[in-house]
Amino acid sequence: MYSEDDLIPLSSLQHILFCERQYALIHIEQVWEENLFTAEGRVLHERVDVEHRESRRLFRQEYSMAVRSLNYGLIGKCDLVEIYLAPGGTVAEAVPVEFKRGRNKEEDVDRVQLCAQALCLEEMLNITIGTGQLYYLQEHRRTTVNLDGALRAKTVELIARIRQLQSSGITPSAEYQKRRCDRCSLLEVCMPKSAGSGGKEVDRFIRSQVSAAREDLDQ
Ligand code: SF4
Repeated sequence: MYSEDDLIPLSSLQHILFCERQYALIHIEQVWEENLFTAEGRVLHERVDVEHRESRRLFRQEYSMAVRSLNYGLIGKCDLVEIYLAPGGTVAEAVPVEFKRGRNKEEDVDRVQLCAQALCLEEMLNITIGTGQLYYLQEHRRTTVNLDGALRAKTVELIARIRQLQSSGITPSAEYQKRRCDRCSLLEVCMPKSAGSGGKEVDRFIRSQVSAAREDLDQ
């Protein structure tokens, strides 16, 4: 069991799956750059936060529901959880729904995040969750995701990798991959094309920027 002080934000799972360096820059070095993709995602989530709540006798919709798991050491929020109650009022079924900009992706980044949300909900509600749903803005429809053994194993593996990186405190060096890096919110600060001989200087530059920003905040 993890303590309250030792919980990993759910968002870090999609960051580490996208790129380990991006994870480390955001969650270890505390660098954050907003680009068009992240800005759209943020606005979408803010909109979800003010959505209406639907409630019927045996069905409830909870928007922006705070969740956590002490077994897996996770904390975060679900955009929406649809809860079905048994006649006695106990929770019979819950389905996490995550809202995303763009379209369904080949990579598991969104599915892993959904699975981690389900792990939290299972612990909190003492139920088993078989499926979750992803709603993509450009597709205007929900896609059902089976939370099967393979997806759960991958999610747990990523949680372990996050803890490994956290305890090492080392930011992996940059490796430029066009398809990935060109849509990365940290492209400007990461400078992956300067990787290799220049990578260490880039890391030093980022560290100096972060510590200068921290000093400003302390003043
Ligand atoms: S620019 Fe590329 S290497 Fe750098 S953090 Fe982003 S995805 Fe990773």
